[in-house]
Amino acid sequence: MTGRVIRAALGYQSTKALTMARDHLSRNDWLIEKPLEVYSMACFFKFSDLAKLASGHAVKRPTEEWVLHRGVMGRTGMEKLEQLYRARMEGLYDILNHSLEFDFEAGTGEGEGRHGCECGDMRRMESMWDAKVDQVKSTLGAGSELLELLEVDLRGGWCEGCLVMLGRNIQKCIVEARSLPTSI
Ligand SMILES: [Zn+2]
Repeated sequence: MTGRVIRAALGYQSTKALTMARDHLSRNDWLIEKPLEVYSMACFFKFSDLAKLASGHAVKRPTEEWVLHRGVMGRTGMEKLEQLYRARMEGLYDILNHSLEFDFEAGTGEGEGRHGCECGDMRRMESMWDAKVDQVKSTLGAGSELLELLEVDLRGGWCEGCLVMLGRNIQKCIVEARSLPTSI
C-alpha cells in the first residue's frame, strides 16, 4: 500500500471521527446543558456552524465560567463570544434606557405634549416603569429577552388607557430585544 492510500484512509477515518464528534456535540441537550463545553470544542475543531449554534447558549452562561474554557476555545473563540456578549448587553441597555412612550401614533413632538392618556396617572406610571427598568437592569443577563418586563405589579388600580400604553411599551421592548444578535 502506498503512503498516499494510507493517508487517504486515515483522512477518511478522521473525517468520519470528526463528523461523529460533531453529531454528538450538536445534540440538543448537550447544547443546553453544556453550552460552553460544546462551544469550546466546536471552536477547537473549527466546526464553525456548531460554534455559531452553541454561542447563543454559551453567551447566557455567567462570564466567570468562560475562563475555565478559554484554553480550549482559544483566543478567537473567546473574542467572538465577548463580542456577542457586548452587542447583546449594550443593545439591551439601549432598549431599556428609552423612557416610557405615551403615544406611539401621534408621537411626542415639540409642543405637542403627551396625549396618550388624559388621566393623572401618567406620572405614577412613569415612576413605576423607572423602578421596573432599574430592577430588570440589576439582574440583566446577555440571554435576556426582556420578558422580565411582563412581571409587573399592577396592584393599586390603574386607568385603562395607561395600561394599554404600558402594554405597548413592554411589547416594543420585547420586539426590539428579538432583533439583537443571537449568535457569533
Ligand atoms: Zn391613564
